[in-house]
Amino acid sequence: MKHDLTHEFFLGFIKIHILHHAAEQPVYGLWLIEELDRHGYKLSPGTLYPVLHSLEKENYLQCQQKVIDGKIRKYYRTTAKGQQMLGEAKARIKELIEEVMK
Ligand SMILES: [Zn+2]
Repeated sequence: MKHDLTHEFFLGFIKIHILHHAAEQPVYGLWLIEELDRHGYKLSPGTLYPVLHSLEKENYLQCQQKVIDGKIRKYYRTTAKGQQMLGEAKARIKELIEEVMK
């Protein structure tokens, strides 16, 4: 994302997207970049990877390496702690929608 302030503003939305998709299936960086692009978020690997790493460090995501065509690819899955956070985020999103979308 070009504008730093915009990125900061929507970083929470991006994290929720990541937790949501990684809860459904293991996801990897490039897949997430394309998926987030579909939602209107333009992220470079240099922006996405630190977000993935911080979510992993905080134990919201779990990383598993797989070898695909001779290359190591990192797959991420939402942990139990991540699921709990996602549930809380959903309740807050619902509350926010009710507040701002009247
Ligand atoms: Zn999505």
